[in-house]
Amino acid sequence: MTRSDVHLARRLEAVSVSPTLAVMMEAKALRERGVDVVDFGPGEPDFDTPENIKRAAVVALQNNLTHYTDTGGILDLRRAIAARYRDRWDAAWGPDEVVSGCGGKNVLFLIAMALFEPGDRVAIYAPYWVSFPEQVKLCGAVPVVVAAREADGFVPRARDLEAHRDLKAIIVNSPCNPSGAVIPPDELERLAEFAASSGSWVISDETYDTFHYGPGSFASFASLHARLRDRLVLVNSFSKTYAMTGWRVGYALGPRPLMEALRKVQSHDATHTSSISQAAAVEALNGPQDSVASMREEYRRRRDELVRSLNRIRGLTCQVPPGSFYVFPNVTGAMAALGCADSIEFARRLMSEIGVATVPGEAFGAPGYVRLSYALSLDRIRAGVERLRTLLGARES
Ligand code: PLP
Repeated sequence: MTRSDVHLARRLEAVSVSPTLAVMMEAKALRERGVDVVDFGPGEPDFDTPENIKRAAVVALQNNLTHYTDTGGILDLRRAIAARYRDRWDAAWGPDEVVSGCGGKNVLFLIAMALFEPGDRVAIYAPYWVSFPEQVKLCGAVPVVVAAREADGFVPRARDLEAHRDLKAIIVNSPCNPSGAVIPPDELERLAEFAASSGSWVISDETYDTFHYGPGSFASFASLHARLRDRLVLVNSFSKTYAMTGWRVGYALGPRPLMEALRKVQSHDATHTSSISQAAAVEALNGPQDSVASMREEYRRRRDELVRSLNRIRGLTCQVPPGSFYVFPNVTGAMAALGCADSIEFARRLMSEIGVATVPGEAFGAPGYVRLSYALSLDRIRAGVERLRTLLGARES
């Protein structure tokens, strides 16, 4: 059977496979051929899930928590999530206004399915996380890509939405994958004001909220919950904060009618995420948090060293991103030096010539940059930077 014999749904035509996963596969294939790849590609923590969380899963198994659960997740989990937002942000979401699902990605998709109609316009700031536009397109809606600028620290600005007062929703992601940008409190206010005055939803993906390195503390849209109540959906995940990518637990908090719609979609899709993972997630929230603090400190150390050393390489300029575990250097100088037409070719050259895996900015709607994850050990980071320096040369100071 050839590809042309299979008449796939037209909605797939505009959608591409996750480019970050494609880089992972390419790095894996090289490694299998015996190449030592320094992999700056991964979008997941290199830490293991903390022991107390793993033990909670074992206990759940022993207690036969192996049956179907509530579609939105077990009450203990929804209560623990609501309590976290009440304690941290004084936000009054109750357990009925929380839905858990198979990771943040799945929860975002449930939201898209529940909210977006064909032709709806949805604003997304570039550089964006790869799945935002694809999920919008899968619903037949139209991504409206708005640029966040390097010179402005890649912060999404409300003023750039003024030309688009017909939006169904604005998707924001702070701290941002891939730029590491964080929305400051005054800009949150402006975005909220725009949403309230234009009648659009705010979908705030705060998957990396614990990996914020300052200055100041992280500002969540949850702090504007009372003001935006009927227009705000907040999304978060256990994947990054608790090094639980494989467990597949994410969640949304939002107004009850929308949460009921998410449940309806989920009831015909995955039903719910794994019962064992849900029990583990309850322990993640209620148990000791010291492993989160130590992961954050380690990421901060790596970020500082990586940014410092990238800025010593000819043709690369890298800001110090306040959050996430990615850096997003401008590589236009290095591209020109190597004669690369775009950052896709540049990333390919890094992979084939020096065994360094990065993700080209095109994947995030921002050509001229590459994303490097620092979810790998300092030793490997140093090895990768050394290879880049050998290829590109040191910056003349
Ligand atoms: N949102 C952002 C910005 C991400 O980077 C990711 C994962 O890379 C997710 C959501 C989804 O993560 P998960 O589905 O593992 O919760």
